[in-house]
Amino acid sequence: MRIQTTEDTIAAISTSLAPSGIGIVRMSGPEAFALADRIYKGVKGKKLSAQKANTVHYGWIVRDGRVLDEVLCILLRAPHSYTGEDTVEIDCHGGILAVGRVLDACLAAGARIAEPGEFTKRAFLNGRIDMSQAEAVMDIISAKSEYALESSLSQLSGSLKEKIEKIREALLFELAYIESALDDPEHYDLTGYSERISGVIRRQKEEIEGLIQSFERGKFIQEGIKTVILGRPNAGKSSLLNALTGKQRAIVTDIPGTTRDVIEENLQLQGLALRILDTAGIRRADNEVERIGVDLAKSQISDADLILYVCDGTKLPDENDREILELIKGKKGIILINKTDLEDCVYARAYGENTAFPVLEISAKTEEGLEKLKNTIVEMFFEGKISFNEEVVITSARHRDVLLRARESLDLVEESIEAGMPEDFLSIDIYGALDALSEITGGSLSEDLVDEIFSKFCTGK
Ligand code: GDP
Repeated sequence: MRIQTTEDTIAAISTSLAPSGIGIVRMSGPEAFALADRIYKGVKGKKLSAQKANTVHYGWIVRDGRVLDEVLCILLRAPHSYTGEDTVEIDCHGGILAVGRVLDACLAAGARIAEPGEFTKRAFLNGRIDMSQAEAVMDIISAKSEYALESSLSQLSGSLKEKIEKIREALLFELAYIESALDDPEHYDLTGYSERISGVIRRQKEEIEGLIQSFERGKFIQEGIKTVILGRPNAGKSSLLNALTGKQRAIVTDIPGTTRDVIEENLQLQGLALRILDTAGIRRADNEVERIGVDLAKSQISDADLILYVCDGTKLPDENDREILELIKGKKGIILINKTDLEDCVYARAYGENTAFPVLEISAKTEEGLEKLKNTIVEMFFEGKISFNEEVVITSARHRDVLLRARESLDLVEESIEAGMPEDFLSIDIYGALDALSEITGGSLSEDLVDEIFSKFCTGK
């Protein structure tokens, strides 16, 4: 384990800087209580440092004799705090000025401003959580859907850590066995050992493979499914978008670096995040398919993970429909026959002919069929199941790369067994796999990499 000093006391604003009921300034480190004593005046005049752990105190933050704000201070003693260190959380009034003043007072008292993610980094360095759990904290904060949140909470509770530890334990056992046998051949017999270790390596590789495979699903859970809604004018694209959006406020973001401005809206479809691309185009009512042109449609299509092709079920398919349906062949797509609430919605079958895409009947108006739409998407992207109880899903490209390296090392072990190499030869690559795996939990990460991971966190976390 690397040694890093956590000797100084850090402070930061942990809530967002906007008008709000309360704001929280957090201080963590060995001097947290002493520094709080310098700026906090309790109603009964008792020092914070003299109070019991895990208690809340009412008073004021005072600097140079001037009251800065009325606050509640929460006192958490090491190791029972988020960072594992002495921590004071100051609940003050929200808004930019009040919280800013309180933070300034903490800094003037001797705290250092925290780097992004430094509180969580300390929790990691103090051994309270491993790296996979620290990364889960960031994922929780940035979760875009209920499912993303569920998956990150499962990772925070240690599901990935436990799974990796199990694989490591199995490999460590074999490593220890080989070493003991080589040291003490009288008591350990290596006859028939290659068969046993082959089985162990195969099973651990299957576990690793399962995690690697889960990345595809994990990415869609975490980042949302990039979706394009296409269809002829008046088919009901914007109505569908509105029905999906419901009452929620859509989050609109610009994606820089693309040749044209793509607008992206993040929608919730019953717990799943759909990132709808280029909705500006969708909202143009008149003769859109012709106007956006095949080229633009093509680029939208190539960017997308999922195409929702909306058809007006009261009208027969025409050339435009056939052209677009031809274009999206090979992609994941769903044909939505819209307007089922109308009596003359009778052409579903005509759209469904000669297509491999699932065909669903919906009504954007009455919202009928949206649950079925979600189930179909779950079927397509998550093989029908999203469960966080037993299944561990990886959502980070870093974890995937590490697992690929671990698998490569185990491939080499298998090759060596096959070639009848001596056991100490196997140890080298088993070590390789162990080293790679411990990068997920953080044990063998270089300090630079640790810094890089935490630098992506937000301030105050
Ligand atoms: P877009 O051009 O594809 O975006 O189509 P719109 O969403 O603007 O819808 C075109 C027209 O169809 C509007 O008058 C909608 O009210 C109507 N519409 C859309 N979906 C439905 C539906 O499910 N049922 C009925 N009855 N009308 C619909």
